[in-house]
Amino acid sequence: MVKETPRPRTISLAREPDGRGIGVFYITNGRDSQFYTFREIPCEIGGRGFAVHRLGLGTLYHVRVGDPAECSCECLGFLRWGRCKHVAGLSALIQQGRLPVRATSRSRPQAPPRTCSSA
Ligand SMILES: [Zn+2]
Repeated sequence: MVKETPRPRTISLAREPDGRGIGVFYITNGRDSQFYTFREIPCEIGGRGFAVHRLGLGTLYHVRVGDPAECSCECLGFLRWGRCKHVAGLSALIQQGRLPVRATSRSRPQAPPRTCSSA
């Protein structure tokens, strides 16, 4: 009986988000790679929202990452287990500093920084 060794799963950024915030990442699982396009979308309920589109299959997931309580995804894996590679992957990219927060959202204007000296 052959014991299966767990195959490492890695996520990599194939294309940095462009001017419209659309980028490409891929998840490698053993010898398989799956490419996804993603675009950050405004998220008013905490965390950061991403529309993730799996290339080739036309499946679109809305993924939210942030604190553990803020994570969500529309895939079956998350519905069943409460975690999935999309949330884990995007979280990893954010932790690596690969997806800097963009100041493009018009619905959420950023407040000017407060300074003590202006009072
Ligand atoms: Zn998912």
